[in-house]
Amino acid sequence: MPLTNSIYNSPVFQQACNQFDAAADILGMEAGVRERTKQPRRTLTVTLPVRMDDGRVLTYEGYRVQHNISTGPAKGGIRFHHDVTLGEVAALAMWMSWKCSLVGLPFGGAKGGVVVNARDMSTGELERLSRRYMQEIATFIGPQLDIPAPDVGTNEQVMAWMMDTYSNHVGHYDPGVITGKPIALGGSLGRREATGEGVAWFTKAYLTDLGIKASETSVIIQGFGNVGSETALALSAWGAKIIGISDFTGGVYNKAGINVKDALAYIAANKSLQGYKGGDSLTNDELLVQPCTVLIPAALERVITDKNAGKLQCRLIAEGANGPTTNEADKIIAERGDIELIPDVLCNSGGVIVSYFEWLQNQSAYYWSKEEVFEKLHRMLAKAKASVDETKAKYKCSRRTAALVLGIARVAEAKAKRGLFP
Ligand code: GLU
Repeated sequence: MPLTNSIYNSPVFQQACNQFDAAADILGMEAGVRERTKQPRRTLTVTLPVRMDDGRVLTYEGYRVQHNISTGPAKGGIRFHHDVTLGEVAALAMWMSWKCSLVGLPFGGAKGGVVVNARDMSTGELERLSRRYMQEIATFIGPQLDIPAPDVGTNEQVMAWMMDTYSNHVGHYDPGVITGKPIALGGSLGRREATGEGVAWFTKAYLTDLGIKASETSVIIQGFGNVGSETALALSAWGAKIIGISDFTGGVYNKAGINVKDALAYIAANKSLQGYKGGDSLTNDELLVQPCTVLIPAALERVITDKNAGKLQCRLIAEGANGPTTNEADKIIAERGDIELIPDVLCNSGGVIVSYFEWLQNQSAYYWSKEEVFEKLHRMLAKAKASVDETKAKYKCSRRTAALVLGIARVAEAKAKRGLFP
């Protein structure tokens, strides 16, 4: 029997479960293995009192969900966002399991989150929150147990504070506990660019399959954080034209092309895209349905829905974000038949792949060049693309379901072979 009254119940968790079921049906997965493969393994909820600069103590709620620890230490980022929910973190943890498994990493899947609007915090407040969160989850994670990383709202500096807090907890420098660190603290060259580099790599590869050249490619990117901006830089360096970008304040559209470096300099100076004069301003919703060759959602979940899927005017969707497309939108896109979609677990896997490289470098204390990192990254991406396309042809299913079939099958097999304990 499927679990009912789950604490994870929410539209986004249901979305991830429905995706899982479609793949498990193809695999003919038997009920006992199906439920234990689908449900998160364990969850820690923490209460985080933080002293604000004005002396008040505000209390935040945080989570760490380990979805799968059967195929290796759990792996996945930590999100700081005011809309974080436990159900969302659980869905994101589930996607990490399939992503790591699909690309062949020796990891399970996890995700963490804190319900907070970190934009409104001072640096000191953010540091105290980051350290408090790590202190509370320190006994639940570790280099051989669960290895966090950045996600929406967290960055290299947050990883540095967390690594320092954990190292103090265990009594020695222990960089392998977290990835996405600054280079000076055991970070990997190329990790900052990795997710965007991977999104751009898949975009180029699928456009090439479609016979579309860089000079004919226009790109709209929704979300201009680490993933969106690195993808934009990589695709514009390739020769594609970036015609639309957005952040939480809204979007900018310019048919003639947006200068990505100029937009990034504006954000560095003004903290957001608001007021940027590089094109016409429009809302995030309007941006998604403008004509372009490639649409890249690179922010949060559930932005391509049954409301706008019929109106999309792109040839290719590259999911830089996790879970940007609802189940209903997937159906509409499949029925339309004129849009190729690179699913999140494949498309944004570059980030966790280079996190794996960072962890390996930390284990051996021997560091690689950026060329070496990218060469190994591209090789893994090419292998994953080939196996997804082969599986898609074999089962005549969507590319998302094909990617999930591959990711889920390995986890289910590991669970079945390990058996139940006791
Ligand atoms: N947060 C990223 C993701 O969703 C990276 C996770 C990691 O590097 O562990 O894939």
